[in-house]
Amino acid sequence: MPAADSRAHFAALGGVVPANFAELPTPCYLLDEGALARNGQILGDLAARTGCKVLLAQKAFSNYDLYPVLAPCLAGTEASGLFEARLGAEEMPGKEVHVFCAAYREDEMAELLRWADHIVFNSPAQLAKFGPMAKAAGKSVGLRVNPECSTQEGHAIYDPCAPGSRLGTTRAQWDAAVAEHPALPDLLDGLHFHTLCEQDADALAVTLDAVAAKFRDLLPRMQWLNMGGGHHITRPGYDVATLEKCIARAQADWGVTVYLEPGEACALNAGYFLTRVLDVVHNGDTTVAILDASAACHMPDVIEMPYRPPLLGSADAGEKPCTVRLAGPTCLAGDVIGDYSFDAEPQPGDLLVFGDMAIYTTCKNNTFNGMPLPAIWTRGADGTCRELVQFGYRDFKVRLGR
Ligand SMILES: *Cc1c(COP(=O)(O)O)cnc(C)c1O
Repeated sequence: MPAADSRAHFAALGGVVPANFAELPTPCYLLDEGALARNGQILGDLAARTGCKVLLAQKAFSNYDLYPVLAPCLAGTEASGLFEARLGAEEMPGKEVHVFCAAYREDEMAELLRWADHIVFNSPAQLAKFGPMAKAAGKSVGLRVNPECSTQEGHAIYDPCAPGSRLGTTRAQWDAAVAEHPALPDLLDGLHFHTLCEQDADALAVTLDAVAAKFRDLLPRMQWLNMGGGHHITRPGYDVATLEKCIARAQADWGVTVYLEPGEACALNAGYFLTRVLDVVHNGDTTVAILDASAACHMPDVIEMPYRPPLLGSADAGEKPCTVRLAGPTCLAGDVIGDYSFDAEPQPGDLLVFGDMAIYTTCKNNTFNGMPLPAIWTRGADGTCRELVQFGYRDFKVRLGR
């Protein structure tokens, strides 16, 4: 991740902690409806200008109470499987439901066909197995292709084009499958690719060239082309003009309806995570503030990605007089959020506000160490905060036994 730009992360707060945050329980996620609406507007305007259709990838953000904020700007939702497909159908009613899964189960297909409008298969074998049933049910059927074009460095676990990847069908895999089942192409209504992660449109343009080169024969026969997620469209400075050129090119060259299914971009910078300092310990030269929030439990991407989340009012380590490691209360030695610097050493009871916490957090957290799940609140466009849901002991226990 690029160096934290705190202005963008906290723009919706005007860069300061609002007074009413002091009344909120910690830890808690606070979803910002105004920021969400602003993202929706950018995506909706893009769709209106270009004729593309934008879907919410629910795996990044699935706080459905706020779907009504995004729904007017979107064509629908994208799901990673049965449950998300059902959630999209239930909570964004009347909108399209698209699903991609690396492998579908036989025992879920009938129900999936109830919820989904588009079903994208990952392999020719899955397409051959379930495609006829999906078509008979009147669904639009797609294949995820692997253009074998890596455009990102560093994060191999986020690169579906890495050698040996299981995600998407390569040209060689497709040719081998069609040699055996010549009717396979007739099942296809569309192609899907998803190869980007937090990237700008230059990477999309390179990828689109690779898709065009590898699947030139199939594309003109398709009704739609889904360009996946990973487009950081709502990030300040994103190159929308190049994105629009990519969309226009696909529309002109192949006559397809273009879909984009960003997750991050829908809810980028649209949430905060509020936590308080419980204790401050000094070990040699290191000062550690132990928070009532855990990286491992409440913001797992900090460890998995890994990245350092933006923190309001702080600076990078060493920039301000007092550098402090912020860490969780769990037993995991590596439950560290990052090193930040402050004007003065944080004290027990101090409130800290992390930014960009709407994505890959509430939908990914866990109760390791018996950590409580943080409450989820929303902040209206007028700044008032409202509790959506809180969790307790029962939510921890219910997943562990009868
Ligand atoms: C993860 C994913 C997305 C969303 O990605 P973001 O990086 O959150 O925009 C979209 N489509 C598919 C198939 C995905 O796996």
